[in-house]
Amino acid sequence: ECAQKRLRLINDLRDALPQNQFQVYYQPIVTMATGGIAKAEALLRWKHPVHGMISPAEFIGVAEESGLIHDIGNWVFREVAEQVKHWRELYNADLQISVNKSPVQFLSDHSESAAWIDYLNRLGLSGRSLVLEITEGVLMDARIEIISQLRKYHDIGMQISLDDFGTGYSSLSYLKKFDIDYLKIDQSFVKNLTPGSDDMALCEAMIVMAHKLGIRVVAEGVETEGQRALLAAAGCDFAQGYLFSRPLPATEFA
Ligand code: C2E
Ligand code: CA
Ligand code: CA
Repeated sequence: ECAQKRLRLINDLRDALPQNQFQVYYQPIVTMATGGIAKAEALLRWKHPVHGMISPAEFIGVAEESGLIHDIGNWVFREVAEQVKHWRELYNADLQISVNKSPVQFLSDHSESAAWIDYLNRLGLSGRSLVLEITEGVLMDARIEIISQLRKYHDIGMQISLDDFGTGYSSLSYLKKFDIDYLKIDQSFVKNLTPGSDDMALCEAMIVMAHKLGIRVVAEGVETEGQRALLAAAGCDFAQGYLFSRPLPATEFA
């Protein structure tokens, strides 16, 4: 039954792109010091014709296993690139949008990253307008092609953000070995943040460590003013979460 459900999901997922069922939502990332919106994260949404909104948590894994993640990820990238170009022209010339890129997406041949860079060139868009959010899974697989892909992105000004930090192996050597621009403190640390708690100590330690390495810090899942204030006092650079805004369709985000 479970396998059948999965097969159905894969089949439906195959139709999602050609039938325009995907939409990119944007969640603001706020500069702690000013409260202004400096960046946003692009988050994929799937509006299934029968089941309604399906969370990426439910379909990204299947998309990765089936290989569909390549076409989907390429679509998200192009969509976001066009959107950020538009918003930079209209509202904020420095706006940056981050795009999630799964480890599987790095495993395709070289042409994918070349195509992304080519696409930006055709749009006349600076690489600085985009940030790639990667997980440790990408860095653990330290084969030379992945390092060179990351380097190519960096060379055109694109920045790299290490997502869900603190939940995986968190091997600190990755931070030294790769050029990481941002570290995202995972929501699980922010959730129960209170003065003097272990989570508070861990957040403070991550922030200090990142800053010493020249890396800036984004806290995820900030839902309360209390959490915001504690993170700000700890020197966190950016924050993202329901306190500021849920992920929104492009028109509402604008
Ligand atoms: P993520 O990259 O860690 O994204 C953050 C998740 O936290 C998002 O869930 C976001 O909606 C949610 N969130 C934001 N603020 C809060 C908050 O204050 N409280 C709580 N409880 N949650 C908050 P979402 O949109 O359901 O995405 C889930 C995961 O799916 C993402 O986790 C990411 O790993 C993956 N994903 C989403 N879009 C894409 C995509 O375009 N490509 C790839 N490869 N993966 C994606
Ligand atoms: Ca992310
Ligand atoms: Ca995350």
